[in-house]
Amino acid sequence: MKNGNNIILVIGAGVAGLSAASALRRAGHAVQLVEAASRVGGRAHTTQIGAFGFDHGASWLHDADRNPLTAFAGPDQLIDTDRLRTRRVLVQGRLATPAELAQRQRAIARFEALASAPQPDAPLARVIDPLRDDPWTASIEAWEACQIAAADPADFSVHDWHLNALDGRNLAVRGGIGRFVAERLAPMAGPAICNTQVSAIDWRGPITAETNRGTITARAAIITCSTAALSRIRFTPALPAAHQAALDGLPMGLLTKVALRARGPARLGLKPEESVTARIAPGEHYMSLLAWPGGADHCVAFIGGPPAWALSRAGAAATIDAVRLRLRDWFGHEADICLGDAVVTGWADDPWHGGAYAYARPGHAAARAALGVPFAQGRLIIAGEATATDGLAGTVAGAWNEGQRAASLLGADS
Ligand SMILES: Cc1cc2nc3c(=O)[nH]c(=O)nc-3n(C[C@H](O)[C@H](O)[C@H](O)COP(=O)(O)OP(=O)(O)OC[C@H]3O[C@@H](n4cnc5c(N)ncnc54)[C@H](O)[C@@H]3O)c2cc1C
Repeated sequence: MKNGNNIILVIGAGVAGLSAASALRRAGHAVQLVEAASRVGGRAHTTQIGAFGFDHGASWLHDADRNPLTAFAGPDQLIDTDRLRTRRVLVQGRLATPAELAQRQRAIARFEALASAPQPDAPLARVIDPLRDDPWTASIEAWEACQIAAADPADFSVHDWHLNALDGRNLAVRGGIGRFVAERLAPMAGPAICNTQVSAIDWRGPITAETNRGTITARAAIITCSTAALSRIRFTPALPAAHQAALDGLPMGLLTKVALRARGPARLGLKPEESVTARIAPGEHYMSLLAWPGGADHCVAFIGGPPAWALSRAGAAATIDAVRLRLRDWFGHEADICLGDAVVTGWADDPWHGGAYAYARPGHAAARAALGVPFAQGRLIIAGEATATDGLAGTVAGAWNEGQRAASLLGADS
């Protein structure tokens, strides 16, 4: 491993680390990029289900027109899923009527107006209390907080929700975003040393990072781990108080995906890219289903926020059972006949991630900026999806932009 006073150490080869390393190397800096896992990409990770990719983490380039990663994909590689998307909304096991759908649209508009109104920061769940009589509120709250932000609505800053509400087109990448990151972005970053876990950072003198493969000395370091993984690194001296407070204000949310593969040609009457959701009663678990993404022969169920944590504690088999039970409610026994093998994501139990992405607690919407402030006389910078302040926190776009920001603070062109 490289060592020395001219080295910039980049910890983590997810999107932010790859971004930082590529900018630094392009500017001529000597870079040591280390990664705890046996692969690069972090929360952008594709595995194969038969002939099709399944993204365990990121699957869309959100806000595509201002997403820095859109430019790295060839035009044939991008799928405009918004254009293909059809939606099926169920109420008590049947299709919602046009009147119910109109009522839902009005409820969404009221929710958005209330949650984005200028106001002191507060839990999202409390801000939308005046809408509790509306039969759609529980579903909209679960969608916005649990599924999109992976957060607990009772512990989620309404300001953070508002600042990071995604807009614009969503594009999928043919073959999967994880594969795209590994094949297109990773080569720009140069070699990453995998299976190398940083357990401690000493910044009293030169930066030294203790790893399972020895100590690395560097002139500066960019730390791109998730907030849960960051909490496991021992700092000497301890993190500055402002950074520790920011870290405490940015817990990891959880979004779990369960992919279910078709046993044969039957497709449950669902078109590719069709989404299915059902209105829930307060306290009921919310789930959404994406049918046959990109024409794949699997569907993907999404469960986020507190129900996802509860299911992760119950285990993968219980999670798959819960999904199958809900699908039986929606499609009857056809669901069991049509859908066979299941793959469940495991971000909660993955020690290098500890969840899906970070959300800010009430009163901590400024924590993203605070965590990203350089410390140790500018030699240590925390950068990743959690520190993004561009409205793209929690996304690969925010992570990429953060890698560029950190690299440019250390003297690379952005
Ligand atoms: C289920 C799910 C769905 C998502 N959907 C989308 C989506 O559709 N669109 C979107 O834009 N984003 C989505 N995201 C979020 C997106 O994947 C992340 O925001 C982004 O990939 C984070 O990149 P990062 O570089 O900040 O962090 P990471 O990807 O976590 O990279 C950090 C790296 O650091 C490594 N590491 C951790 N600790 C150490 C250590 N001590 N020593 C060395 N290395 C360490 C980790 O292994 C990891 O590779 C989703 C995420 C999940 C989990």
